[in-house]
Amino acid sequence: MFNNLSRIVLGLSLILIVVLIISANNFYEPANKVYKPEDEEHKENEDAIKEGKEDNSKAQNSEDELNDNLEERDTSGTEEITKPQEKKPEIEYVLYDGIIENIFFHPLIAYTDKAFDDDNRKNHMDAWFITVDEFEKILHSLYENDYILINMDMAYKIKEENGRKIFESSPFALPKGKKPLVISIDDLNYYEYMKKNGTIHKLILDENDNIAEFTQFEGQEPIISYNKSIINILESFIETHEDFSFKGARGIIALTGYNGIFGYDTSKQSSPTYKKDLATATKIADKLKSMGWLFASHGYSHLDAREASYDSLAWDCHRWDTHVRQLTGPTNIYIYPFGASLKSSDSKYEILIDYGFDVFMGIGRQTPIYVRRNSIYTNRLPIDGYCLKGRYGDVSRFFNTEEIIDNSRPNSN
Ligand SMILES: [Zn+2]
Repeated sequence: MFNNLSRIVLGLSLILIVVLIISANNFYEPANKVYKPEDEEHKENEDAIKEGKEDNSKAQNSEDELNDNLEERDTSGTEEITKPQEKKPEIEYVLYDGIIENIFFHPLIAYTDKAFDDDNRKNHMDAWFITVDEFEKILHSLYENDYILINMDMAYKIKEENGRKIFESSPFALPKGKKPLVISIDDLNYYEYMKKNGTIHKLILDENDNIAEFTQFEGQEPIISYNKSIINILESFIETHEDFSFKGARGIIALTGYNGIFGYDTSKQSSPTYKKDLATATKIADKLKSMGWLFASHGYSHLDAREASYDSLAWDCHRWDTHVRQLTGPTNIYIYPFGASLKSSDSKYEILIDYGFDVFMGIGRQTPIYVRRNSIYTNRLPIDGYCLKGRYGDVSRFFNTEEIIDNSRPNSN
């Protein structure tokens, strides 16, 4: 009797051990597969490029236009490599040369009652912005879909030839199973109209030298927060999801200058707080850089580069150089306002080159990197109200729009 019981216990224990070993293996197996150019997802992307051409008409750089002058990244051959053990020996790296996803946001709607009240900006806010709640859900979904933030300069090499920079695309190693993602925030200026329509009012540095958010509605006490801007929400997310950022990457902040930056009046020299605002904005820019953020020009006055005359674009670049680059420090990234990108054969394009820009970004559904001789170009997909309402086609590789959309939006059903 005792003997039989022992056998049963032994048998059960063996089964339990086998089950544990199987589940442990499943647990450590990366749930995601390594990206290969022939994956279904990529095919879908290519179809979407064809479908998506008419939309974003001004905003989008048509493929034909680009293919005339540009050489597309070669996406063949994904080869696995393993790096020698470093600090964290568990991470396996693979060589990646597929699509780099590139998405952008505007400042977040922190106060939905201000954004979606019945003033004449309601539809504008609904179309081009997302809410704090939506951004948080999007981050989780990007992470669950194995995206990892990278800096785009991993994807190309610059060589010197006769004193000139020559760009070449270059595959790079990523943790196995991860998909590279570049993010940017456009117009992180907190324009007057944004402040009146639900964004925070400015970024500040708190007593510990951390970025905080400041908002003060008329006749009310100021609100200091830490969870209403992309900067702070992303930072908290990375604290608990370290593998969402590769080599400390954050994103790109695209700034105009005509209405100040970060909510400060850095454009109005007659303002009594002008000098103080310049100093504060510079400190905030320095802090953001130390956190891993990069800066880009978004034009001084959000000028449409295609529509603008040669002289007005030159004047706009000069103004950005004097009033914004002074505060942010040097940058070689130009993010076209309205996505209105220039052909490299356009004489206005040379103005941008002369002002030190050689990484150009426009707007489009698909984001291959085009390597020109003296610069590179890529599109970015807007993540905004239109995106969440399906206007830019299938974005299920990032998130399920139905799970994201904030029900405080007008007509969200
Ligand atoms: Zn813009």
